[in-house]
Amino acid sequence: MDIQIRGVQKHYGSFHALRGIDLDIASGELLALLGPSGSGKTTLLRAIAGLEPLDGGQVKFGDIDATGLSVQERKVGFVFQQYALFKHMTVFDNIAFGLSVRPKKERPDTATINKRVRELLELVQLGGLDKRYPAQLSGGQKQRVALARALAIEPRVLLLDEPFGALDAKVRKDLRRWLRSLHRETGYTTIFVTHDQEEALELADRVVVMNRGVIEQVGTTDEVWDAPSTPFVYDFLGTPNVLPARVERGALLLNGATAVLATAGAEPEGPVNVYTRPNELRVVGDDDIAALAGKVVETQRTGLLLRLGVKLLSSGDVIEIELPHPDPDVQRWQIGDGIRVRPSRYSLFPRAVAAVAEESGYDPTLTVTERRERSRT
Ligand code: ATP
Repeated sequence: MDIQIRGVQKHYGSFHALRGIDLDIASGELLALLGPSGSGKTTLLRAIAGLEPLDGGQVKFGDIDATGLSVQERKVGFVFQQYALFKHMTVFDNIAFGLSVRPKKERPDTATINKRVRELLELVQLGGLDKRYPAQLSGGQKQRVALARALAIEPRVLLLDEPFGALDAKVRKDLRRWLRSLHRETGYTTIFVTHDQEEALELADRVVVMNRGVIEQVGTTDEVWDAPSTPFVYDFLGTPNVLPARVERGALLLNGATAVLATAGAEPEGPVNVYTRPNELRVVGDDDIAALAGKVVETQRTGLLLRLGVKLLSSGDVIEIELPHPDPDVQRWQIGDGIRVRPSRYSLFPRAVAAVAEESGYDPTLTVTERRERSRT
């Protein structure tokens, strides 16, 4: 079932939660709605489900205008973050619920319901647990029961709101892989909400990045990662370093440094911000005249990576670089060491555009480490 969303508006009192959303979702697609808290992801998901009356715009399921239809009429399967299983019912009865409460005319007979529930138990790998009650299941098992329950009604669309939010990191990872293969098997159009970029990039075919009730970018996981179209998307997906610079006669001059980098040639002249991710900076030798010189002020080993905080001599800004570790070519960096780096890859945004990202709570004066810490809290 393909879905077409046009000009969707939603207010809560005076708060404008969705500001004219346009989105096309292809049949069988696995789509992530990604964004920070309060960006409108859940509101959009609920609007697609029919749980949220709209103030404007249209939601179409295939050729049908679904805008005025109820959840039941839209035939969506919905899974919430808190599994919301019926505590007093067994796993079997929880899964059968959607079918057994159908009006008599539409209700399958008992044998058909039993068969369907058995198939679903196998699909979600919970065969043998049908007589258990929710309290006797782990978090991951409960979430799979919730998915099986949503699938029981053979939904036209499967909607998942932070489906793995309450689970620990390892279980989340396992369930992600499992959901991906489940999606391959069932082929249902599936939309899930997450604020976890890794989850979106690992699981989805396409990602919708939302910010303050608007869509910042829609694209495949490669597109949004490799070519973020706005500073906000860049920042949200990968905590980049942001370096003030100028484009002058086709050359990029980093502020306060003599470093000159070639540009693609299409950039407008004037002040820009250079966005470059910590893993896109390379350590270079003294002979590289386009290098940025600095001093190591922080070293931190995390698993296979070595993170260095580098204070640039030219501007005093602290940037972060990531190096593979252990790496025989990587010297044992110590605080106080002199270092020269150069971005191997970067994007430019005119300063005026970057200011819009700053307005939405993004503070370029913070170091990447500080921003990462802040986003964790
Ligand atoms: P989160 O990741 O925190 O769930 P979200 O991106 O899903 O965030 P929404 O739940 O869609 O965000 O909420 C968008 C905005 O609308 C938020 O600022 C929220 O406070 C507001 N909002 C949501 N539901 C209501 C409501 N029923 N009444 C008033 N305001 C609401």
